[in-house]
Amino acid sequence: MLWRLTTLVLCQACAAGLGWFVAQDGDKSIVALSCALAGSLLWFVMDCMRGLRLLRWLREGAATDLSLGNGLWGEAYDRVRRMLRNGHRLTVESDSRLEDFLAALQASPNGVVLLDSDTRIEWFNQTAAEHFGFDARRDMLQHIGNLVRDPGFVAYLAARNFLHDITMPGRESNASKPVKISVHVHPYGEGRVLLLSRDITAVEQAEAMRRDFVANVSHEIRTPLTVLAGFVETLQTLSLEEQERQRYLALMSQQAQRMQSLVSDLLTLSRLEGSPLPSTHDWVSVDLLMRQCEQDAQGLSQILSGQLHDLVFKRAPGCEIAGSSTELYSALSNLISNAIRYTPVGRRIEVEFSLRPEGNAAFQVRDQGPGIALEHIPRLTERFYRVDRSRSRDTGGTGLGLAIVKHVSQRHGAELSIESVPGKGSIFTIGFPAHRVRQALVGSTVESTVSSV
Ligand code: ADP
Repeated sequence: MLWRLTTLVLCQACAAGLGWFVAQDGDKSIVALSCALAGSLLWFVMDCMRGLRLLRWLREGAATDLSLGNGLWGEAYDRVRRMLRNGHRLTVESDSRLEDFLAALQASPNGVVLLDSDTRIEWFNQTAAEHFGFDARRDMLQHIGNLVRDPGFVAYLAARNFLHDITMPGRESNASKPVKISVHVHPYGEGRVLLLSRDITAVEQAEAMRRDFVANVSHEIRTPLTVLAGFVETLQTLSLEEQERQRYLALMSQQAQRMQSLVSDLLTLSRLEGSPLPSTHDWVSVDLLMRQCEQDAQGLSQILSGQLHDLVFKRAPGCEIAGSSTELYSALSNLISNAIRYTPVGRRIEVEFSLRPEGNAAFQVRDQGPGIALEHIPRLTERFYRVDRSRSRDTGGTGLGLAIVKHVSQRHGAELSIESVPGKGSIFTIGFPAHRVRQALVGSTVESTVSSV
């Protein structure tokens, strides 16, 4: 303000001075006064022009720099420019925060959709686009009810009771490949809603598998338990002949054995699932493994059929496999025991370990049993899947043997393959990758003890 007054006074004084200097002697004071007034007018016009320049600068968006010097207009320009710069910086900062926030939502493994108070789509991430089939260019600001037509979802949105979530089929769901999406809406702000979606197909499948597994185990245990309880009651209530009593006790022992095998296989599976992967530095002697399996095979064949199988073991001396001896023994003995249990007496069963020229190797168990129809083969490694239920049970099968073999194979980076011709026989092969196989130098084999898992 002081600067303003000073410039006004200076302007008047200069003009008055100039008037005084050029005026005739008699008119000096009148001319000086008139010139002072003219000076004031000039100052006023120049001041208005500076004000107008500031106004035009603001109207044009304050994009360029302006020079208004000192004084009121200069200070007003400086202050306005500083305020605009601060505002711009804050806008840039909040824009970048919003970008970061949206990028975080974009990275979310869940689908995120923001809806306005009228349930129109304001924003969604890529996962939501996949779950619901949205298109970022086409579907923004569309009513979600027009795009997601599932009746359950429409009713959920209309009821506005968002305490629980709902499950609906995913966009690409079909009968052969069902996809399940869980959707939960959370209200926020003034009538706005946040919609979260999650693909729960795998969770649902795991839950269904868990339910089936519990039902299967209960069923498998209940059957021998019922038989056992029946025999116990018979022995308690009836006075039986010694011969008959012995027969009942033998049957009871068979059922108890069945439950024992089942529990033992379940424990094996749970150990396989819970333990760390077998080392690639512990080398197991294949020869030792096969000798142990051969002894067991002869014992089992003796028990089941009076040793009438033609058992042939073809070894590969000096070969070693990297992994767990107990797990490998468990897998191989399961394959051999299946071959013995399913192959009629008198037929041949061959067990071979062969080293391939490429460095990989395979255990093969070939039998001349009943074979397996093609449609059963993909399901054989499922827990409790049996082709012939009564045959499996009669020979002490648990339905878990091939599941164990598959698990052990996977843990060793190996692959289980099954070939079979109904009426002719089956070939079960566990193929090991080259890095798990070595031909030991004579004498360098670390003898490993084989015990059941
Ligand atoms: P199980 O204890 O019933 O033998 P597995 O998991 O070992 O269970 O085998 C699953 C099913 O595969 C068996 O019930 C049987 O029907 C079939 N199977 C397995 N090995 C043979 C084989 N060598 N010959 C014919 N069928 C077999």
